[in-house]
Amino acid sequence: MTVKAQTPVITNPSLYDVEAIRKDFPILQTYVHGKPLVYLDNAATSQKPISVIRKAQEYYSTMNSNIHRGVHALSGVSTEAFETARIKIKKFINALGKNEIIFTRGATESINLVAQTFGRSNLNEGDEVIISEMEHHSNIVPWQLICNEKKAKLKVIPINDDGELILEEYEKLLSDRTKIVSVVYCSNSLGTVNPVRKIIKAAHKKGIPVLIDAAQAVNHLHIDVQELDCDFLVFSGHKIYGPTGIGVLYGKVNLLDSMPPYQGGGDMISKVTFEKTTYNELPHKFEAGTPNIAGAIGLGEAIDYVSRIGIGNISLHEKELLDYATEAVQSVPGLKIIGTASEKVSVLSFVLDDVHPHDIGTFLDFEGIAIRTGHHCTQPVMDRFKIPATSRASFAMYNTTEEIDVLVNGLNKIIKVFG
Ligand code: PMP
Repeated sequence: MTVKAQTPVITNPSLYDVEAIRKDFPILQTYVHGKPLVYLDNAATSQKPISVIRKAQEYYSTMNSNIHRGVHALSGVSTEAFETARIKIKKFINALGKNEIIFTRGATESINLVAQTFGRSNLNEGDEVIISEMEHHSNIVPWQLICNEKKAKLKVIPINDDGELILEEYEKLLSDRTKIVSVVYCSNSLGTVNPVRKIIKAAHKKGIPVLIDAAQAVNHLHIDVQELDCDFLVFSGHKIYGPTGIGVLYGKVNLLDSMPPYQGGGDMISKVTFEKTTYNELPHKFEAGTPNIAGAIGLGEAIDYVSRIGIGNISLHEKELLDYATEAVQSVPGLKIIGTASEKVSVLSFVLDDVHPHDIGTFLDFEGIAIRTGHHCTQPVMDRFKIPATSRASFAMYNTTEEIDVLVNGLNKIIKVFG
């Protein structure tokens, strides 16, 4: 298999060359059940370009060594590569300093970190945490755990029938007892893009910090944490074409400084005695133990890749795909889209009359099509729409309208088979 090492920089959206991009992703040449793979499960995890795959190999074959501690040459090289990745992320989301970028295992761990440190030290009995009805379980359960422990309350912003947050209800929920607002930027099960700027402004008027779950946003939208003015922002590497097991917590430096450590261990300390331990400076205070070094370096490479294509160009391409798919599925009898917000990322959730999503997913798999079926870790969204599950096709920078045609053909076959 021949794959190009680097996609050229795209400076003009009209030069977006999806076929050239596809060649960078070796897995897209795979056959599944004898059919060419049509990978439409990008909201679960995206595929990796060859440059990211090679970077992990390069790390293990030329640099492998523990970071921050050794004086030998290899440790210097791996530390440099790890810290360079941090700087790439800092620039990508326009953080003020690299000490505001904490490496974690992913969005889930980043939210748990904030709940267990900021939450533990700021929540008291009767205090409130605001989340929304469309949160991923990873932005519900960590808050439930700490609220239960502290006898604090979880308040939930409701959503309307299109799957949009009801902002008037949000404003009513903000109170003197609110200690943090934690909301998703883009919904993984509905595709909704939330008006996070308005949400942040309203909270800040009352001096309340806001965490933005950008797990489904960072790969679709340009993110500038200073412009957003969010207090925390989290995302996972694997949804932005990087490796699994690596993610990011961005936090404003004054907040991170005020928070106690999350986990104890090596690297997060300054001085340890049995009587007293003092902690390392940011960001290391929150990075106990040996991190996923290859993952961080791979994420840095993924960010380089995305930057070469241009997040704006990716957004435009994905919008075309979403519009095309939204129109194309109208021809499938009995199909209903769940999530019809006016602003969406490229996530298309749907139900099909009387056919269980599990059967849809299994049938499409035999056509070589990978979609997601289930509650997508958003059970309250399913309850809101009174459905057990949806089928979800989610599109990435390398998907094509031809692949959407294959999906629609597959759905029409299902209608024939299941009557
Ligand atoms: N938030 C959202 C909106 C997500 O879609 C996901 C992953 N599906 C997560 C958080 C959790 O991400 P991870 O499993 O990578 O920690």
